[in-house]
Amino acid sequence: MPANFKAELVGCFGQPVAENPTGAMQEAAFEALGLNWRYLTVEVKPGDLGNAMLGARAFGMQGVNLTIPHKVSVIPYLDETAPDAAIIGAVNTVRREGDKLIGENTDGKGFLCGMRTDAGVDPKGKRAVVLGAGGAARAIVTELALAGASDVLVVNRFVERGEPMAAELAASTKAPIRFQAWQGYYPVPADADILVNATSIGLYPNSDAMPPVDLSAANPRMLVCDAVFNPPETRLIATARQQGLPVLDGLAMLVYQGAIGFELWTQEQAPEQVMKQALRRALGLLG
Ligand code: NDP
Repeated sequence: MPANFKAELVGCFGQPVAENPTGAMQEAAFEALGLNWRYLTVEVKPGDLGNAMLGARAFGMQGVNLTIPHKVSVIPYLDETAPDAAIIGAVNTVRREGDKLIGENTDGKGFLCGMRTDAGVDPKGKRAVVLGAGGAARAIVTELALAGASDVLVVNRFVERGEPMAAELAASTKAPIRFQAWQGYYPVPADADILVNATSIGLYPNSDAMPPVDLSAANPRMLVCDAVFNPPETRLIATARQQGLPVLDGLAMLVYQGAIGFELWTQEQAPEQVMKQALRRALGLLG
């Protein structure tokens, strides 16, 4: 076989980006499969995103992840946007198809994959409550709705953000998505099958914070999920666990959104356990 010293390139554009652990997880997956691919974690200022995307094209990069603050502003630089990413209105993964750059959103899909694979719960026909109305909530609500959840209730502090989001996503997914304002302690209803914290409450360094929810009436089989992955054992997850409720932490969403990205880029099956382990190591969670 002739020598081939050319690596395929993917990466992440964001600001700040230095603490983003995705590269460790993707590089471990490339190594496990013997792929000569590299993942570059690149700090890109908001005003430089257009040039960075031109650079990605010029370098023939196979794809990029976008993180804060580029998930929405990248869309004009793409050739196409996948239907669910268009509904969500944000792109976290770009893949190359020939000369075209296509925008995808794997955040909500990664969340659903974690729910199915690690918690054994299929959202079809389930009643879900999602706390929050930011980017993570939009992605999770959209994918729960598209996966056939029978009811998705968005609960958010600021009505002016949550109410239009729920109405807009209900119209675009044609699914039953409702809104409720969050005032004081939110009593999680007994008929909820899934509760998701998609707010940033509990995120490091405010790891002692707990979303003000009252779980006393919760169905004992209700799955409690957190999008916050740093720390993975949030106070919400710990409280639910103590109460005997099944739980799913934010690492699952992070690993599976990366695994879906890996498969979109390489067309190979992602080594999920390798990626999980690499992520735990990168976050200092291994002993
Ligand atoms: P945004 O900043 O877009 O949204 C934050 C949300 O949190 C808003 O709905 C906001 O409500 C709510 N919120 C923040 N503080 C409070 C508070 N004190 N009381 C009530 N509501 C509050 O963030 P993202 O959606 O991008 O991210 C949310 C979380 O999800 C973060 O912790 C992030 O790390 C995590 N995430 C995890 C991923 C994973 O793979 N595991 C992927 C993406 C995100 P309001 O509208 O009222 O201000």
